[in-house]
Amino acid sequence: MSVRVRFAPSPTGALHIGGVRTALYNYLFARKNKGTFILRIEDTDQNRLVPGAEDYIIEALKWTGLIPDEGVGFGGDNGPYRQSDRKDFYKKYAEQLVELGHAYFAFDTPEALEAQRQAEANFTYNHHTRNSLSNSLNLPSNVVQDKLQAGEPHVIRLKVEPGQEIHIQDLIRGEVVFQSSELDDKVLLKADGMPTYHLANIVDDHLMGITHVIRGEEWLPSTAHHVLLYRSFGWAQTMPQFAHLPLILKPVGNGKLSKRDGAKFGIPVFPIAWKGDTPEDSFTGFREAGFLPQAVINFMALLGWHPGTDDEIFSLDELVQQFSIEHISKSGARFDYEKAKWFNQRYIQATGDAELAGHIQPLAEARGYRTDAAFLTSVAALMKERVTFLPDFVEQGYFLFEPVSTYDDAMVQKKWNPALQPAFEALIEMIDQAPAFDAASLEAAVKEFMQEHGLKPGEVFSLLRLSLAGTMQGPAVFDMAALLGKTDTVQRLRNALTHFNQVSGAATH
Ligand code: GLU
Repeated sequence: MSVRVRFAPSPTGALHIGGVRTALYNYLFARKNKGTFILRIEDTDQNRLVPGAEDYIIEALKWTGLIPDEGVGFGGDNGPYRQSDRKDFYKKYAEQLVELGHAYFAFDTPEALEAQRQAEANFTYNHHTRNSLSNSLNLPSNVVQDKLQAGEPHVIRLKVEPGQEIHIQDLIRGEVVFQSSELDDKVLLKADGMPTYHLANIVDDHLMGITHVIRGEEWLPSTAHHVLLYRSFGWAQTMPQFAHLPLILKPVGNGKLSKRDGAKFGIPVFPIAWKGDTPEDSFTGFREAGFLPQAVINFMALLGWHPGTDDEIFSLDELVQQFSIEHISKSGARFDYEKAKWFNQRYIQATGDAELAGHIQPLAEARGYRTDAAFLTSVAALMKERVTFLPDFVEQGYFLFEPVSTYDDAMVQKKWNPALQPAFEALIEMIDQAPAFDAASLEAAVKEFMQEHGLKPGEVFSLLRLSLAGTMQGPAVFDMAALLGKTDTVQRLRNALTHFNQVSGAATH
């Protein structure tokens, strides 16, 4: 039987990085087994729906490259893939369970249930309490029929038989056992005719031929009810296997990474930015922070999975080759943002200059900088060993695009000596007359000049660097000069000379 897995988010807001990891592991498992990866949108809880969340999920998957084979926005023969478009199925199946004697109609009003809760501290609707409540297990059948015919609001509940042991062979956690006596009679179909998560999830996993359910650990307790549902429908033979993924933990301290941790630690915890109704509900993303999606994928892959070797750098294709559920750990994985940055540096360095230029282009454009591909490709080549995030190309490398606006004056004071003035002027003159302006020729010419004038390379190179970039950081000095071209280089050297004199003048007065 071919593998079919699904990523089944509820569109209740932006998809936190944990959700993307769930999508990734499903994707890897599907690809590894030449199976099918499905995107199903679980939007049956109408109260929690957030406009734009579905589009967000699709965009986030596209950005990370986790493209579903079937699903909302991706087509496929097993749809519809949005649960709100499948309402009729759920009603039919819920009623079927009533006919089979595994579910029942319950007419208790919300007020009546609230009164029960007030009267009895841990009230649950279960095999103990259901006998004294208003449902089709207790009421005479003609009363039930009348109520149904009169359209009296009601729900359908699962009839959980006590005294059963439910064994789940979780692919990550091993055997997990639940006691049915401890489970409540979950609502399957709500009064508004919409299914609950449990019913819709099981009906869809069955109808969509899902073979493996790979999802977050928070769903493990629900699995007990899910197994009962499969049994009640008579689908136990084709029940999917379960794999519950470990939590993603906060960068420091205890507990699960939350969407609020982004603001708290000043780091992204979402794949792409989300604009909510309020600033507190708006979040930046890895994309906006300047991550390459491949770096984010690699980082997330190792949040809970390990290859069994010390290797850390994996392309998506390599991950597909290496991935196995056996290598997913049971314990939570700490969200180490420094590691994410390290991956991004590595991926930027490994990316071709022309491709990087494509990433730099919109960033340069936003700042009103020149955006021609040849120039940006050279910027990429000069800066890629030095940056962590994509915007660093224009932020840290701003001097490649615009004149130097600030100089590292502490450094200027250290390196500049007014006695160098005539030699520096002559050097500028020489550069202005240089017949060739490629980095190698220029370097040779400057070295020769230094020798003739008895100048120390340490001194001159630093001053050139300060002149062109304003800082001691930045790319190799002659590469920079070649990129800037003769006119700009000479102009910068003259500006710098004026500035150096001002600094040393100010220092001596
Ligand atoms: N809709 C659930 C969620 O939002 C899906 C859980 C599952 O995969 O069964 O995570």
